Amino acid sequence: MGTSAEVIGHDAILRELRSLASQRPPAHAVLLAGPEHTGRSLLAREYARLLNCQARQGGAMPGFDPPPIPCGECRHCRLIGDGAHPDVVHLSPGDALCRPRSGESGHPSHPDSRDIRICQVRGTIELVARYPFEAPYRVVVVDPAERMTPDAANTLLKTLEEPPSHSVFVLISAAPDQLLETIVSRCRRIDVPTVPTATIEAGLVARGVDASLAHDAATSARGRPGLAITFAAQPDLMGDRRRLLQRCARIAAAGLSERFRYSQELRDRWRNDRASIFRELETWEAFWEQALTASAAADRPAAVGALAALNAVATAREHLLANVLPRTAFDAMLVAFPRRRLDEGGDAAVAS
Ligand SMILES: [Zn+2]
Ligand SMILES: [Zn+2]
Repeated sequence: MGTSAEVIGHDAILRELRSLASQRPPAHAVLLAGPEHTGRSLLAREYARLLNCQARQGGAMPGFDPPPIPCGECRHCRLIGDGAHPDVVHLSPGDALCRPRSGESGHPSHPDSRDIRICQVRGTIELVARYPFEAPYRVVVVDPAERMTPDAANTLLKTLEEPPSHSVFVLISAAPDQLLETIVSRCRRIDVPTVPTATIEAGLVARGVDASLAHDAATSARGRPGLAITFAAQPDLMGDRRRLLQRCARIAAAGLSERFRYSQELRDRWRNDRASIFRELETWEAFWEQALTASAAADRPAAVGALAALNAVATAREHLLANVLPRTAFDAMLVAFPRRRLDEGGDAAVAS
């Protein structure tokens, strides 16, 4: 444990991060843009290690050739790997780094906030103005970056333009289109794609996962190593997913009144368990992707319908991330789904 082997796939991105970390000065703002569970957080962590690993610090020693990957053993590598390094900080929705305006009284605490607020950005700017506690570079991970309010994003902008020399920002976003153009333009943008199933399978086996479980988990994860790791650790979740796919087939075959009942259920669950809703949207994508593959050659209207459905799922996700009313997001998605017969590829979708 504790080396770059933690990241599954993404060899080209790892090479790029190495080169960005070796620049003098290193790239000070990186945007990792891509779907959830693809390894974006681990890549951010890898960048933090590349910048701070003691085995890579040769200073100006002539002939010093830093090892290409972080050692995984030194104090900085270990603390970063444990998520416990005092100089790697996370700017995320909630209370972290909150710093009320001076003189502002009665600033309410906001542990359940869904946004990254201006008060948190203020705290971040104050923090990065000081030297790191012990590492050469302080790394601020902004995740998910699209949750910054416009005020917060505009406040961060100045610091992204002229950051203190010992600070680096890594923005993570599944919806980079929702970021301010001015923010994106200050970042080195790296698109994090999904990972081939065979690569994920090999990565799981390398982590000691049993071969047949690795195969099932990699196949179910649709290119997302993070999901595959979860499936390998909790194989029950794959059964849940199969049941979800069967349910998708039933709802795709149902009329509007049943679809609206389902929309109501999604809304109720959205209040308490957002993660399960995003997993369900992923399952819907899997369902319509399979429908698309099954119909692509033979049945043009069905293919067009499946494509429209995929767009509708993507739009619903964007709406939910942008705090559009959940009712609007779910209803619009379900109305946009074409109606399928239960025997129409529904079983094929369930079988795989
Ligand atoms: Zn190290
Ligand atoms: Zn605050």
